[in-house]
Amino acid sequence: MVQKWKPLQWQEAQEYNDNPSRPRQQLPQWLQKQELTEADLPYIHELLATGFAEWLEEADGFPWLGGPLALLHSDGSNVSAGTLAEDDESEFASWREEDIGPTAASRALHTCRPTLMRAEEHRLARLKSFDTLAVPIFTRTTGFPCAVVVCLLAAGTAQAGDLKLLQAAALHIRSCIYRGFENLFVGGLLMERKLSKKEEARRNILFDVMRRLNDHIDVENVLAEVLDSLEQLYPICKADLFLSQDYSSPNEKVKPLAFHLSDMDLCKAAFLDGRMREELSDGRHRLALPLSGKQGVYGVLRLDMPESQFDEADTSFLTMLAGAAGAAFEKAKLHEQANVLVGELRLINELTQRLNSSLKLSETMQFASAELLGIFKSDFCCILQYDIVTQQFIVMSANVAEMIGETYSKSYGFCGVMWSTKEPIILSDYCSATPVTSKLMDVTTSRSLLASPLLLNGQVIGAVMITKREANHFSYDNYKLLQVLSAHLGLAISNATLHAEVRRMVITDNLTGLFARHYLNERIGRKQMRDSSGSLILVDIDHFKKINDTFGHQVGDDILIQVSDIVKSSIRDSDIAARWGGEELAIYLPLIDLEQTERVAERIRQRVEAETSPQVTVSCGISEWSMTDDKISVETLFYKADMALYEAKHHGRNCIVVGERH
Ligand code: GH3
Ligand code: MG
Ligand code: MG
Repeated sequence: MVQKWKPLQWQEAQEYNDNPSRPRQQLPQWLQKQELTEADLPYIHELLATGFAEWLEEADGFPWLGGPLALLHSDGSNVSAGTLAEDDESEFASWREEDIGPTAASRALHTCRPTLMRAEEHRLARLKSFDTLAVPIFTRTTGFPCAVVVCLLAAGTAQAGDLKLLQAAALHIRSCIYRGFENLFVGGLLMERKLSKKEEARRNILFDVMRRLNDHIDVENVLAEVLDSLEQLYPICKADLFLSQDYSSPNEKVKPLAFHLSDMDLCKAAFLDGRMREELSDGRHRLALPLSGKQGVYGVLRLDMPESQFDEADTSFLTMLAGAAGAAFEKAKLHEQANVLVGELRLINELTQRLNSSLKLSETMQFASAELLGIFKSDFCCILQYDIVTQQFIVMSANVAEMIGETYSKSYGFCGVMWSTKEPIILSDYCSATPVTSKLMDVTTSRSLLASPLLLNGQVIGAVMITKREANHFSYDNYKLLQVLSAHLGLAISNATLHAEVRRMVITDNLTGLFARHYLNERIGRKQMRDSSGSLILVDIDHFKKINDTFGHQVGDDILIQVSDIVKSSIRDSDIAARWGGEELAIYLPLIDLEQTERVAERIRQRVEAETSPQVTVSCGISEWSMTDDKISVETLFYKADMALYEAKHHGRNCIVVGERH
C-alpha cells in the first residue's frame, strides 16, 4: 500500500481526480475493501485535505454550527489550511498537545470519542475564549483514528447537540475522504496499467527488433537496423554509432571511434569499461551505450536528446537494445569473417595451384600480378626480384610501362624499407608526408600502398607492391592477406627460379659456358621443322693432344675456354654454339647460306690463331641443309660437317672445308 503514494502516481491520481467527467458509479466491492493502514498515515495529508475541501463544498460551508471548522491529521497538523478564512486558520495553526496543552482534538484522539472542552479548560490563552469540539474520524474497516474534525464555538455556547452535529459532519467528511481515496486508488491502478502497457509495448518492440536483428547476417544490415529502430522509437533523439573496428560503412551515421577527440570522452569511457555512461549538460541528456558481444566491445551507440525525455525504463530498454545489437553485430561479424576466411583459403588454394602449375618465371609473375590486382581491387601491381649478385631489385612484372625492366638499389624506396625490415607495408596516404620516395607511387600518382617482401628462408628474394590512386584504400585484412599470399608467391617464384637454373645447368656445358650437345641437337631438330635452311660449322682444335701433353690439362682446359669465348663473340644471338665433344665445338647458323657461314668460320679461324695463348689453331668443317634436300636430319648435317672437318685435317689443318651440297 505504501508505494502507491509515490509522487508520480500521486500526481497522476490527482489528474484523475480532477477530471470532472470521471464516472461516479457504484464502486465495486473489491474497491470498497481497499483500506488505509497505519503505514499510509504519513502520506495522507493531501488526501484528507482534498476530502475536507470537497466536503466543505458539498456541505456548503456547514453553516449549522456557529464557529470555524478544521480537519486535523492524527499527527496534529492542520490539513484544512487554505480552506478556512484567514482569521480562523491561525486558531488551528498547531494543535499538538505538547505545544498548546490539551484540546478537544487531542483528547478525542486519545479517547477515540467525540469530545467537548469548555473554554476554561484550555491552557492556551487565545483558546480560553472558545469552547472546542472534536470528533475523531476512523478508518472504514480497521477503525483507527486517522483524523479529527474540530470546531470552535464562542465560550459557553457549546451544547451536546453541537457535538452530535459535528459527529454527523465527521461521517460525511469520512465518506468524502474515502471517495478521494478510492479515486486515488483507481487512478494509481490506471497509472500502473498505463505504465505496464508502455512497458509491454517496449518489450514488444525490443522483441521485434531482436528478431529482425537476428535475421540479418551481414554487418551493414545489422547497423542499419539498430539505427532505424532507434529513429522510430525516439524520433527526437540523435543517434550515432561509433565502431572501433577497421570498418567503413556507407551509412553516414556509422563513424570510427576516434579516441583523440574531446567530445568522445563519454563514448571512450563506455567503450573501455563496457558499461553504459550518461551525462546531463546544457539541457541535453547524452547516453553512451557499449555495443558488446561475448568476445569484446565493438563500438558505442551515442544518443543525444533533450533532457527529461528519458526515464529509467528507457535507459534500461536502450541498454538491452544495445546489448542485442552488440550480440547481433558480433554474430554478423563472425559470419563475415568466416566467409572471408573461406574465401581467402579458396583463393590461396587456387592461386598456389595455378602458381605451381607453371614453372616459367615470367608466366608465374604475370599471373600473380593479374590476380593481385583483382583480389585487392587495386590499380597497379609491380613484382620485383632481388638479384643477389648485383644487389638490386629488378622489376619482373608491372602494369606500368615505365617500370618494366627497371632496377633499384636495395636502399631505394619502399623495397629498400622492406629489404631492411623484412616486414610488409601498408600506407594509407603517400601524399601525407611520407619520408620514402617511390617511383611507382610517383609515376602512377597513387596514394594507397600495400607491399610485402617475398621471403625465402628468411632472405628477401623479391617484393610485391600494390597501389591504388585513392587514399585509404587498403584495410588491415588486406595487409594480412597479402602477407599470406606473398609467402606462397615467394615460394612459387623461387621454385620457378630454381627450375630455370636447373634447366640452364642441364643445357649448358660447365667448362666452356656453351650449350650442351643434346640441346644443340634439340634446337637444330626444331629449326629443321620450321626453317627453310641452316648451316653448321664444326670446329676442332689442331693437335690438342700435344697441348695437353706439353702444358698439362689445366692449360688445355684454358685453351678450350679461350676458343669458346672467341666462338661466342664471333657469332650472332640467333646462332647457337655448343660443345660438341672433347675439344670439338659446333655452331649452328639458322637461315644462313654457305658463303656467309664460311666467312664466320674464317673469322673464327683467324682470331683463334691470333688471339690464343699458348697459340693454337683450329680446323673447320662446314655443312648446310635446305628444305629442298631429299633427306633432312640432324645426323646428316653433322655427318657432312664431320666429313668436311676430316678433309680439313687432311689438308694440313688451320683451314676451312665446306662439305658437299648433296
Ligand atoms: P687433331 O685434332 O689435330 O687431329 O689432333 P688432336 O690431338 O686434337 O687429336 P685428337 O682428337 O685424337 O685428340 C683430342 C684430345 O683432346 C684428346 C684429349 O686428351 C683432349 N681433350 C678432350 N677433351 C678435353 C678437355 O676437356 N680438356 C683437355 N685439357 N683436353 C681434352
Ligand atoms: Mg678431336
Ligand atoms: Mg683436335
